[in-house]
Amino acid sequence: MKATKKPAAPKEKRLQGKPVSAGIAIGPLHEAAEPALTICRDKPAPESIPAELERLEDAVARSRKQLQKLKSRLSAMPKDSQAEIAPLLDVYLHMLGASRLMRGIKARIQEGELGAEAAAHEEAEAQAALIMSQAGGDKASRTRRADEVQELARRLIRNLTRQPFRSFEGLPQGSILTAQDLRPAEAALIQPTRFAGIVTAEGGLDGHTAVMLRALGLPAVLGVEGLLDKAAPGCFAIIDGETGDVILNPSKASFDAARKKLAAQTRARRSLARLQHLPAQTRCGVQIELQANLELPFELKMIAESGARGIGLLRSEFMFMNRESAPDEETQFRIYRDIIEAMDGEPVTIRLLDWGSDKEIDVLSRLLPEHPEPNPALGLRGVRALLQFEDLLETQLAAIMRAAIAGPVRIMLPMVTVAQEIIDTREVMRRVWRRLKRRKAVALPEAMPPLGIMVETAAAALAAPLLAKHAEFFAIGSNDLTMYTLAADRSSPGAVKLYDPLEPAVLRLLHLIASFAAAGGVPVSLCGELAARPAATALLLGLGLRQFSMHGNAVPLVKQAIRATTLLACEELANQALAAPDAKAVREILARAQGG
Ligand code: PEP
Ligand code: MG
Repeated sequence: MKATKKPAAPKEKRLQGKPVSAGIAIGPLHEAAEPALTICRDKPAPESIPAELERLEDAVARSRKQLQKLKSRLSAMPKDSQAEIAPLLDVYLHMLGASRLMRGIKARIQEGELGAEAAAHEEAEAQAALIMSQAGGDKASRTRRADEVQELARRLIRNLTRQPFRSFEGLPQGSILTAQDLRPAEAALIQPTRFAGIVTAEGGLDGHTAVMLRALGLPAVLGVEGLLDKAAPGCFAIIDGETGDVILNPSKASFDAARKKLAAQTRARRSLARLQHLPAQTRCGVQIELQANLELPFELKMIAESGARGIGLLRSEFMFMNRESAPDEETQFRIYRDIIEAMDGEPVTIRLLDWGSDKEIDVLSRLLPEHPEPNPALGLRGVRALLQFEDLLETQLAAIMRAAIAGPVRIMLPMVTVAQEIIDTREVMRRVWRRLKRRKAVALPEAMPPLGIMVETAAAALAAPLLAKHAEFFAIGSNDLTMYTLAADRSSPGAVKLYDPLEPAVLRLLHLIASFAAAGGVPVSLCGELAARPAATALLLGLGLRQFSMHGNAVPLVKQAIRATTLLACEELANQALAAPDAKAVREILARAQGG
């Protein structure tokens, strides 16, 4: 019998893309192809124009529903992804309203030459071309705007024609998801546990998609030219999200090297996990308190494993999301109680509903005037809204006070600017407490929970000595403090470059708040995103902060940074940063301190 010759193993091929999200992925490449979109260009009969307009309305309603659903899914995603995609979804939702795009599509239908889907396509293409041809502004932001218009039109066309959207469902578990391109709204649908990594032929380092993938924590390389031509379906590959290397059909040597790197990464992760049981203490023996932020109850497990000592910020907004009506006292009570019990004696700081500005809550929108405020970030939000809608405040306070029987609880007020807001809230607290005491069959703790405040406006920071007379603790919200201090909104393309918590103006305020809190004998923690940046930990210690609350994932990394430094080094670093001319210089100082 003639021996059959074994087919030669496919040759290793190396490609290069943009390293978007660190980590090594090894697995078969499987493409999630976008179903082709066919557009009927037949001229409609004149009498069917009203029907075409009606179809368009129907597609708008479907698109709006899909986007709202996507928005509500966001609350289960990491904060970075939310911050990235929520404004984008708002742009899409806005465009579905009385926008130039919708006016243009309708006008084209009314002209009688095109059906709804062809009108949507032509109008979007025309507007995208116009945006790209405009002078001024940078090319990246023009491209982004043009993409947004085209993307929304594609969604409308799929809904008009009922042509399917791309799905990731059928792809094998553990594969490397491959695509020509990936849109941010699609990235929001990816379940990170299902895939080893992601590689695409298009896309760059800074797009919305890249930020989403980083937040999902999946190794990802984007912008690999010619990827789909060079990679056979199902072929084995290694992607390195740190270097941008993509190796197709890896040789044994490449496999071994990748496995080694993967093992080193896993070891590093494990050594972080071991930190869970070690104290958060500087090399010179100063004890630091690390707590976790909780946005959704499902994070409890991760918080328990993180080594955090309690919850420093429970954002209570989730209880009001995706509901037909606001939760009543009993519903809220049960949710708080379950969380407090799960924390098993560790303290839980519940922030009262922080509603308003960009934190929209559908079930409460009926309370607001029909016309939106001209400047919502400076309007009715946080404690201002709570004091205006006292029923809401009383219900939440009653639920928290009752739940406080289950363990140590603190109540925190968002967006405080003046002392009177604390005085007024405490008055409501006393009233609710008295009322609860009169109620039969209600178990209450011995004393009312302590009342503290978020320091997130420049006014609260500068008046901290006055506020310290009324608040039992401070928690610095560096996200809002940065925005209000620099008058820069991170989601505004015109101001995003200015938004940086490392600006000396913000650092000086942090230093001031820490000093005022110490002088007033009020404990202070920092619970904005800055607290979760291990590169900034030494600086924050040097500014006088000793308590932090952050996303549970960040706790081990921050603990590692604490255990690697001394207070003397931190203070030296803080002095240099406070004297720096700008955020860029501060970043350089931090990089130098880390030997980078
Ligand atoms: C902050 O502003 O830093 C903060 C922690 O609150 P939020 O991000 O919920 O506004
Ligand atoms: Mg805030």
